[in-house]
Amino acid sequence: TSEAAPLRARAEIDLAALRANVRALRAHAPGAQLMAVVKADAYGHGALPCARAALAAGARWLGTATPEEALALRAAGIPGRIMCWLWTPGGPWREAVEADLDLGVSGLWALREVTAAARAAGVPARVQLKADTGLGRNGCSPADWPELVAEALRAEAAGLLRITGLWSHLACADEPGHPSVVPQLARFREMVGYAEERGVRPEVRHIANSPAALTLPDSHFDLVRTGIAMYGLSPSPELGAPADFGLRPVMTLAASLALVKHVPGGHGVSYGHHYVTPGDTTLGLVPLGYADGIPRHASGAGPVLVGGKWRTVAGRVAMDQFVVDLGGDEPPVGSEAVLFGPGDRGEPTAEDWAQAAGTIAYEIVTRIGTRVPRVHV
Ligand code: PLP
Repeated sequence: TSEAAPLRARAEIDLAALRANVRALRAHAPGAQLMAVVKADAYGHGALPCARAALAAGARWLGTATPEEALALRAAGIPGRIMCWLWTPGGPWREAVEADLDLGVSGLWALREVTAAARAAGVPARVQLKADTGLGRNGCSPADWPELVAEALRAEAAGLLRITGLWSHLACADEPGHPSVVPQLARFREMVGYAEERGVRPEVRHIANSPAALTLPDSHFDLVRTGIAMYGLSPSPELGAPADFGLRPVMTLAASLALVKHVPGGHGVSYGHHYVTPGDTTLGLVPLGYADGIPRHASGAGPVLVGGKWRTVAGRVAMDQFVVDLGGDEPPVGSEAVLFGPGDRGEPTAEDWAQAAGTIAYEIVTRIGTRVPRVHV
């Protein structure tokens, strides 16, 4: 990575690793189709290049949260099945129907809006009915399911839509042996069974996210929707490290040291002086801050590889920069500071940052800001 153009900072995205991760995930769920989840700019990795790479490696579907994200993929010329699921009233239903997207529908209000849009467009909508099997978030509750299914079947009979999928989402698949998983899968089978007995003929039934794709074969059904594992990160440290599943982290975040200077002992560092140099030392300035997604909660804790050694964020992470104590070493200004990557060059991982900041690796990569160029290799 050090041969790259000298940038303030860069997030290098290893698309070969992403493709290999997609192939590994297909091997973990051999009977299922794969949906590459590329919402939130592909978890910060760049939606378009990641979508193309995932499709090239055998993903059959792309998934996003918002319709705007899905429409942007279609507008960029991405063919095939694209699904989105996070709607609010007055959303771009008609554009979505005309773009031939698969639309997640969790309630009657949404079913009515999509039906009206399909009538106006003169094209049937592809609708995937979402069941809340226990997550307690988006999805239709079991009590409301009969009405949603009945109304969707009437709209299908009228030629306004096609029920292409029945689906749900797991709450605790990332916690090995969590007692909610088996009941959620049972409720999913019941809710799917109810709909199918009344005549729904879905192309796909799906509930698995990355942790379920990796560890719960009973959850695979016709399709698995994988996000985090495709980016080479483990859904949780409890489940294992990426390498345990044949996955390789895709993003490397690095910056060029903007300043190296000597300071005496007893010198306060950064806002609030929460770090005070224990003796004469050198400080390195890393030109990345919380505006770039570096968590302020990792102040005093986040690890950075500089000159072959792990250094720790000294004092507070500021908006655009933070400091590391180089312990008297004098790497030249411009030297590479690697915040995280796959780990095999001795650098920290996104998981190390998640632990330093009290969060999950999902949040670390997803929040890397737009000021940081993504360099796809
Ligand atoms: N399916 C849905 C509905 C989601 O919201 C998400 C992401 O949160 C995923 C699948 C992918 O989850 P993961 O990144 O754990 O694979």
